[in-house]
Amino acid sequence: MQGLMQKTPLLLSSLITHAAENHAKAEIVGQSVEGPIVRTSWGEVAARAGRLAGALTRLGVGAGDRVATLAWNTPRHLELYFGVTGIGAVLHTVNPRLFAPQIEYMLRHAEDGYLFFDLSFTDLVAELAPKIPSLRGLIALTDRAHMPTLDHPNLLCYEDLLAAESEAHPWPLFDENAASILCYTSGTTGNPKGVLYSHRALLLHSFCAAAADGLAVSCLDSGLLVVPLFHANAWGLPFAAAMVGAKLVLPGPRLDGASLFSLMQAERCTFAAGVPTVWFGLFDYIDRNRAALDLSTFRLDRVLCGGSAAPRALINETFGAFLLHAWGMTETSPIATLGRLLPKHLGLDREARYDIQAKQGRPVYGVEVCITDPEGRRLPRDGKAVGHLRVRGPWVTAGYFKGEGGIVLDDGNWFDTGDVATIDEDGYVTLTDRAKDIIKSGGEWISSIDLENAAVGHPDVLEAAAIGVPHPKWVERPLLLIRCKEGVSVTRQAMLDFLADKVARWWLPDDVITVDELPHTATGKLSKVSLRKTYADHLRKAVSDGLA
Ligand code: AMP
Repeated sequence: MQGLMQKTPLLLSSLITHAAENHAKAEIVGQSVEGPIVRTSWGEVAARAGRLAGALTRLGVGAGDRVATLAWNTPRHLELYFGVTGIGAVLHTVNPRLFAPQIEYMLRHAEDGYLFFDLSFTDLVAELAPKIPSLRGLIALTDRAHMPTLDHPNLLCYEDLLAAESEAHPWPLFDENAASILCYTSGTTGNPKGVLYSHRALLLHSFCAAAADGLAVSCLDSGLLVVPLFHANAWGLPFAAAMVGAKLVLPGPRLDGASLFSLMQAERCTFAAGVPTVWFGLFDYIDRNRAALDLSTFRLDRVLCGGSAAPRALINETFGAFLLHAWGMTETSPIATLGRLLPKHLGLDREARYDIQAKQGRPVYGVEVCITDPEGRRLPRDGKAVGHLRVRGPWVTAGYFKGEGGIVLDDGNWFDTGDVATIDEDGYVTLTDRAKDIIKSGGEWISSIDLENAAVGHPDVLEAAAIGVPHPKWVERPLLLIRCKEGVSVTRQAMLDFLADKVARWWLPDDVITVDELPHTATGKLSKVSLRKTYADHLRKAVSDGLA
């Protein structure tokens, strides 16, 4: 027997319609690329998304057509989130921090028809556009007065396009399984692969993001979105915020500690989302300028932190905000696990609570997790067994765009994340490594994440990378690279002494090297591939020289 409820499709346009009808005045504040702070609202965003939909239709963009963006977190980019997807077209958010040849690959692979770009990327667009045969036009995200000079037969101005349309564009109804957003994985090996989100997946994900034991986003919140709109749907927050009418604060291209602090302060931000590096930058800025800053209006209540492991050293330093540690990936829309506390943790002292927060969290409803051995056999949830982390659920990918990478699910529909983890009795996942980053010493596994987290606990260390490098006896041994804070240094011996009571003896790195910079991927993760290459001979040489 069928239920007798309406079969309203779960479309993203329902979110912007809801926000416009019920939270029209809720603010959207953005740092524009041109310079000034822009103040708008969900009502305005909805109206302009409607105009954009009209403009896209007039340009011949239809259902399933790909429209790319190279843009920061600004109100215009938010309008594109709704205007493009609302008509059934696919928004392809491109990460501008990738290398130009990778961006070229993605634009060609996605066969984007139009590219919307922020002025910061004019040179990049000028270089790439002639190489993309599918591109029919370029739209500069600005007004007439700021139009860039760019030699292209169809260069259009965003504000002119919108001005020519009426805002009353009715959102069409279509299959909720239709594609909405296309986002390529950062592709640390090989070419990036496209993850194609359906409307249904992102809508269900929004409920999870907004829920009280999710990110607890409400209309009383003012949320600073540092996580880029070009990275995994900005963790679903634009949609969750529209669902509840939360105020959003978009920092545009200015992501340094001072800019983020002043924006947060001015807009009374209650929550913020971004990768650990951003929070290190912000909290370090506050710490160094504590005497000169007015912290009485600092309202930050929650910091959503993911993308890389949030070290203990960061969890201690959030100026009263709760650091909510999350794990996920482009392939999981991205929220999969969240570090909420259980009732039994409420009485814990601070240090013990931080231990819980340092884990990557428990699965949210909608994502199942398990760990397996290399043969795919389930391992126990005992907090000890280390295995390959697998996930499944309605917002987990079923395959990559155009079938790249072949079949990605096993018989039980489980997706192998490429991460290695433990899961404890309460379901808390603790990531020990990327499968390809794990250090294998004499057949045993050493967690590079644990080593790094321990090393950044040193007060003079800003960032650390632990890598496995070839060793004549142990096959691989850990090498630790550290970047120290300005004006201070840490010797090899001092670091080894510091680590001595924090990790097992045999985990202690064979060498510690101080560097000025550590390489990062375009999504802010340590790029260990290049480090392993650079230091491939380091220990072999030290051993043959009799130094290790
Ligand atoms: P991306 O698809 O670029 O978002 O990268 C996803 C990968 O980032 C995951 O598979 C993890 O390796 C890593 N990652 C995400 N969140 C965390 C976290 N909280 N702790 C450690 N690694 C993380």
